Amino acid sequence: MKRDSWKVLSKRPRLVHGSKQQEWHTEVKYPCIYCGAELGEEHNPECAHREQTVVVDVTIRMVKVVPEHWTEEVVDFHYNKGSWCASNIVDDLRAMDARVKCLCDFTTVKYIREATEHDEEFHKLRIAEADND
Ligand SMILES: [Zn+2]
Repeated sequence: MKRDSWKVLSKRPRLVHGSKQQEWHTEVKYPCIYCGAELGEEHNPECAHREQTVVVDVTIRMVKVVPEHWTEEVVDFHYNKGSWCASNIVDDLRAMDARVKCLCDFTTVKYIREATEHDEEFHKLRIAEADND
C-alpha cells in the first residue's frame, strides 16, 4: 500500500508486526540524506524513505524426505490438505540454508500487486504513521 504523504519528521514511520511496533530509527537526520528534503517537507517521489507494501509470491524448490511408498498425490495432500503445518517450513529452510549456504539458486520471488488494507491486516504487517511532532 502506498501512503499519500511522506513528510520529513523527526521520527521515522514504524513497521508494525501485528500489535508490536518495531522502531527503526528514533531520530531521523535532516535534511534527508537521500533527497535533501527539509523537516516538514515531502520526500521526493524517488526517495528511498518513501516505502510501500506489496504482495509477492515466494517459490523455493527443495528436496524433502518422505516415506518411500508415498505417491505424488499423497505428497501433495500431506503438504497442502493434511495436518502438516506450513510453519514447519521455517525450520526446513533454516536447515537447507545451513547445508547449501545460500538459497538464491532455489528461490524465485514474483511481484503480484500492491498490498491492500486487507492484505496488511491479514499478514499483520503495515507501515505505521509516524508521530508528528
Ligand atoms: Zn527523502
